[in-house]
Amino acid sequence: MIYDCHTHIASSMILPPQWSEGWMQNTIEALPGKGTEPEKKLVRKLFEYLNHDESCERLLRQMEEANIDKSALLVIDWGLTYKDFEYPIEEVMAFHRKVLETHPDKFWVFAGIDPRRGQQGLDLFEKSVKDWGFHGLKLYPPCGFSPSDEQLFPFYEICEQYGIPVLTHVGPSSPSLRTSFAMPIEIDTAAWKFPKVNFILGHGAFTHAYDCGLLAAHRNNIYLDMSGFQTQTDQKFEETMIQHLKLRLHKKILFGTDWPVHFFSGHQRNALKKMEMLLTHGVLDQTNYDLIMYKNFERLMS
Ligand SMILES: [Zn+2]
Repeated sequence: MIYDCHTHIASSMILPPQWSEGWMQNTIEALPGKGTEPEKKLVRKLFEYLNHDESCERLLRQMEEANIDKSALLVIDWGLTYKDFEYPIEEVMAFHRKVLETHPDKFWVFAGIDPRRGQQGLDLFEKSVKDWGFHGLKLYPPCGFSPSDEQLFPFYEICEQYGIPVLTHVGPSSPSLRTSFAMPIEIDTAAWKFPKVNFILGHGAFTHAYDCGLLAAHRNNIYLDMSGFQTQTDQKFEETMIQHLKLRLHKKILFGTDWPVHFFSGHQRNALKKMEMLLTHGVLDQTNYDLIMYKNFERLMS
């Protein structure tokens, strides 16, 4: 069994040009030619092509190839950050609802709401959980708010009431956004104040890995998502995992890929191959591998 705790629908609803422009620039500069004109053109064309999978057909196909049983789709609320963002949040959420209704056995959905929307945002969040069966809350602090902002406390009360987790992004995002609110320590007040709510640090197993690891070891309700591990060298990947296991975090780490963000690093099955390397190299035994690949997330979602 394999569960992916961190994916998105490949669409400009989730990866809008305002976000991807800066992100692509960084990708282009990392290429061997450091951003020649043909490289730029090719990357942009490829990105536009890959960022169109609204039906999730491509994602489902890649999940099947990689033996991933079920994935969590995370909504991101861009509306207050990018003023010219073209999709109202109600529309983005309703779109995810439709996908969930079509594939209830293949996806979970985490609602994404900017807390600065106030009561209206809170009502939409509650409706998505109560009436549509959404399974968690996704936060994107680089948009300009802290995960410990008091405006989020009523959201966390709903999470507590329904027993659902919060997944919050950690670390740098697109250069068009701020990183300061996405530092690991920003979660601490919320996690301390809401001990019954489980908080997943998105990318936290590899981004600011040391600080995230200390927080997860210190608080029962903090977990680390692995997504982004695809970009690590094999050696660095193994070293970081060994460090986490020394902190006894085998019950706190969740497999995730951040599809489609790392599509330049290969298909979902390539990500799985990299995970299996931890088994063959003896970094993980089968028990810990199963915890990370699905059992930890299963526990959070039940
Ligand atoms: Zn993501």
